[in-house]
Amino acid sequence: MAIIMDGKATSAKVRADLAQKTIEFKEKYGYAPGLAVIIVGEDPASQIYVRNKKKACEEVGYNSFEYALPEKTTEEELLKLIDELNSDKKVHGILVQSPTPRHIDEKKIQLAIRPEKDVDAFHPVNVGKIMIGDYDFVPCTPAGITELLDEYGIETCGKSCVVIGRSDIVGKPMAMLMLHKNCTVTVCHSRTPDVAKVTKEADIVISAVGKADFVKGDMIKEGAVVIDVGMNRNSQGKLCGDVVYDECEKKAAYITPVPGGVGPMTITMLMKNTLKSAQLFAEK
Ligand code: NAP
Repeated sequence: MAIIMDGKATSAKVRADLAQKTIEFKEKYGYAPGLAVIIVGEDPASQIYVRNKKKACEEVGYNSFEYALPEKTTEEELLKLIDELNSDKKVHGILVQSPTPRHIDEKKIQLAIRPEKDVDAFHPVNVGKIMIGDYDFVPCTPAGITELLDEYGIETCGKSCVVIGRSDIVGKPMAMLMLHKNCTVTVCHSRTPDVAKVTKEADIVISAVGKADFVKGDMIKEGAVVIDVGMNRNSQGKLCGDVVYDECEKKAAYITPVPGGVGPMTITMLMKNTLKSAQLFAEK
């Protein structure tokens, strides 16, 4: 039976620590860290994410600035707002909730955010910094996973790690972080001919595919660490990950559940990046 890596409890612990650090920050500098969240349009899932980010800010003691813009907002208008926030001293992190409406080029938006306020770490400058291992911010989901690995004292040095998925926000930065943690890293994707052959040899399997029941029990070795990033709906409409949990938890040494594993860590890491940004600005 695997040890369950509890993302909810770890997240609560990190938030409590951030709340304490925020009190100290406020005492030292006289103001709170600030996060600006921009949402364009009325996508219901995005609205929930934005609400959760606001709640997280309140919990740790940050100022949150929410900009709910109508669907018809032009790219130019959005860029103008980002420009204003880039030079606003009260704002240390800027985030534009994805997806934006089709007429807005997300790449252009990512490039417009000042790298020092890019708490999502999507700007090419921050992506490059992650590559060379000299970074201030890490994309929130991979950052949450490394935090969980550390919390559970999982040895990574010299271990083999397979990351399934190569997206810019999860798979690629995750692979890079595990490389910095001295793992021997393999990245699988949709053109990998035999994913199971690779995962069966791995000490750590991180699945970020987005397909329910993708990682089955016979795809992992005894004693592996299994991290499930997937957020899918099963045939009954219930939230589930990529991993067949019942099969894998019998063989794994550690496993993350869905829900309650990686998910709760993501917004918490956004909070961590925002405090880091505020500290860097304050020390300038
Ligand atoms: P994505 O951009 O759709 O990437 C999925 C990756 O999976 C791609 O690299 C794709 O390969 C690969 N893939 C697809 N089918 C495959 C197959 N049969 N074998 C091997 N690889 C395959 O998704 P994402 O944004 O990285 O997100 C992945 C999952 O994580 C989703 O379920 C998402 O909802 C979830 N997620 C969760 C959190 C959280 O906080 N818990 C945060 C972000 C994402 P190609 O590149 O070859 O197409």
